[in-house]
Amino acid sequence: MRSPSVFPPWLRSEISARLGFPHPESAMAQAYDPNNIFAKILRGEAPCLKVYEDETALAFMDIMPRGDGHVVVVPKVAARNILDIAPADLARFMPAVQKVALAAKKGLNAEGVKIEQYNESASGQTVYHLHFHVLPRWADVALKPPGGPIVSADVLAPIAEKIRAAIAEG
Ligand code: 5GP
Repeated sequence: MRSPSVFPPWLRSEISARLGFPHPESAMAQAYDPNNIFAKILRGEAPCLKVYEDETALAFMDIMPRGDGHVVVVPKVAARNILDIAPADLARFMPAVQKVALAAKKGLNAEGVKIEQYNESASGQTVYHLHFHVLPRWADVALKPPGGPIVSADVLAPIAEKIRAAIAEG
């Protein structure tokens, strides 16, 4: 068995980019697939119900919501998950997660907000572009399990509008 790399995945990517050829250890890391559904949404090749966008992030309604106001916030940089994003990119992106969490709580009169984020399939990740789940919470309403039924845009649109309005109010 090979000993673990001293280079985290994001640093291997940076080294590869600067060298112009793959870092020798990069084959050990899981590759980013640019054809994942969130990459397609970011490129405008697949639809979404957008609630927020800035230069670092896009936030949109989850189509299989685990509760009212379930939003996913994705960075615009290509990262498979939190294990391979460059720390500086993560730092630039995280305020968008906070902005959406605040707006979802305010816009939907939630009692709290749960943030979930999975890394690799063993943890529950199913879409391999980094994303944070923003889940408004009410103490007496249980979250549904992941992978539930797809909810139509007609049902999600008024909820998205409340979150957008809360963002606009600041
Ligand atoms: P993960 O399990 O990777 O943390 O979460 C992926 C999330 O993406 C799930 O909550 C799933 O419902 C959501 N999802 C999967 N495909 C689509 C899609 O095409 N559009 C939207 N808006 N959400 C999706």
